Amino acid sequence: MNIEKINDNVFIIDTLAYGEPKTVASYLVKSDDKFALIDVGYAYTHMNIINALQSINLDPKEITYIIPTHVHLDHSGATGHIARIATKAKIVAHERAKKHLIDPTKLILSAKEIFGEEKMRVFGTPLPVEEERIISFKEELELKLGNLTLRCIYAPGHAPHQMAILLVEKNLLFTADTVGIMQPNLGIMIPTTPPPSFDFVQATKTLDNLKKYDPAHLTMPHYGYRGDPEHVFDLTKTKMEEWINAVKAFVKEGLTKDEIIKIMQERIKKEANISDLPASAKQSILISVSGILNYISNI
Ligand SMILES: [Zn+2]
Repeated sequence: MNIEKINDNVFIIDTLAYGEPKTVASYLVKSDDKFALIDVGYAYTHMNIINALQSINLDPKEITYIIPTHVHLDHSGATGHIARIATKAKIVAHERAKKHLIDPTKLILSAKEIFGEEKMRVFGTPLPVEEERIISFKEELELKLGNLTLRCIYAPGHAPHQMAILLVEKNLLFTADTVGIMQPNLGIMIPTTPPPSFDFVQATKTLDNLKKYDPAHLTMPHYGYRGDPEHVFDLTKTKMEEWINAVKAFVKEGLTKDEIIKIMQERIKKEANISDLPASAKQSILISVSGILNYISNI
């Protein structure tokens, strides 16, 4: 079964992206009489979420909110697909994400540029969402889900259209990609610094802001529950600095992007003490190096 209970109100759904376990999560938040999804993964894995809901006797047609934390394809790719099944659901997004949900053409093009046509076929194609179904906000939005409160908090840095979400009653923060990637199959952290808009200054400001909410629990899209928010926030900042400094030094030495990616792959293998990198980690390293190269060429 690809759904597990975290507490009385929160379940983690493994979207089974890349055919690997525990790389891309979707979260189900369930109140006394309503339920919502936070992040929905790639378009091609949307049925894994639908099946997970049905396996615990929830009718996908009854979803109240679908909340993609930002419009990268591993978080929002399935939004339109699930919205077509969950016909009563409202879609909640940051105002800068809204236009991409209504018309995903630009997102698809930008993803094709980063990943190539072939991978895009594997990820699946996002479907558009009707404008009148979208609830958007700028800085903060409080949503009621039955007896629960979801506080959506603008969280730029990783992307300018990202939010994190605090489940107030549980003091639990859905981090989105404000924190690094910590997949159980690696046991170490890879920073999430993707193109085209990663911004280190914004990302650290967001971490400082989220700390102020003082969450006791975190759930990460990549991947799972953590009870040590302070440590995860601090490690995220350290890893971003470490990678930015390393990539800067390699650029100074005249290394190409492909050479830098190879070196970082070797570093991660060593750090994680594994001989082969899973496909998901290879992709994360490629994306993070690309985003840092983009960032440092613009500062
Ligand atoms: Zn992302």
